[in-house]
Amino acid sequence: MALLNADLHCHSTVSDGTLEPEALAARAHANGVELWALTDHDEVGGQHRAAAAARALGLPYLCGVEISVTFAGLTVHIVGLGIDPDDAQLVQGLAATRGGRERRARAMAEQLAAVGIRGAFEGALRYVGNPELISRTHFARYLVETGVCSDTHEVFRRFLTEGKPGFVEHQWARLGDAVRWIRDAGGIAVLAHPARYAHPTPTHEYALLAEFKAHGGQALEVVTGSHSSAEIARYADLALEFGLAASRGSDFHSPAESHCDLGALPYLDGRLTPVWELLAHRVLH
Ligand code: AMP
Ligand code: MN
Ligand code: MN
Ligand code: MN
Repeated sequence: MALLNADLHCHSTVSDGTLEPEALAARAHANGVELWALTDHDEVGGQHRAAAAARALGLPYLCGVEISVTFAGLTVHIVGLGIDPDDAQLVQGLAATRGGRERRARAMAEQLAAVGIRGAFEGALRYVGNPELISRTHFARYLVETGVCSDTHEVFRRFLTEGKPGFVEHQWARLGDAVRWIRDAGGIAVLAHPARYAHPTPTHEYALLAEFKAHGGQALEVVTGSHSSAEIARYADLALEFGLAASRGSDFHSPAESHCDLGALPYLDGRLTPVWELLAHRVLH
């Protein structure tokens, strides 16, 4: 089962992706994905569309979400797989988590205006598919469109990350709450792209993994679009050390921006327990 082309992490226009859920399903299927999940940020509004599109293609599907969490001053992302998208506690928790996004976006635009970049709030909004989910990615697209930067990665380097103009501190969900919402909705919590966090110390990373597990987190996203092969090896070892299952997902956002396409990932190391082995009963056919 390790040699399954599962892609359990991507984004649609319901959050900060550029493709509709139906187009993503078609792309996943065309790329040979054998088990798929759409995991929009802080939002399950695309789940029924994604599941219906997957079913029409004969593509096995897991409902998913990616929750923004603040852990000891750092933003981390928790993917939930196999969730019931209609679970009331989850739906309410996600609504509360995305609640401050518009205020944050206005504050980001003010900071950008102070360094001479005007109209960023309205500009970013033009890229937004879901008015409740204005994200840094939408600002990045606006700054590329206006020629301030040549690609979205440059925007994040120069503007939207800690210490740069355009970065606004934000309080997301708590780790324990996010894991509980996912579990109570029948799903499994996965720590997303673990190599992407700027832990201040190695101890901070151990604390994250230990607390994640203590709250009921069960898997680590070992293989993901932004992990190098060295990072994949390191997090495979950490998954084994912490007794966590392993997930695999491209984190695909857009044909123009994502360096890893749907389904185009290395397979999981055969020593690992694939998260889908724990989720067979949650797969929609
Ligand atoms: P937000 O939830 O509004 O803080 O936006 C976070 C999103 O920004 C992530 O989900 C990515 O899609 C995108 N992002 C974060 N860092 C980078 C980066 N260095 N380069 C490109 N996109 C990034
Ligand atoms: Mn994103
Ligand atoms: Mn993420
Ligand atoms: Mn993501």
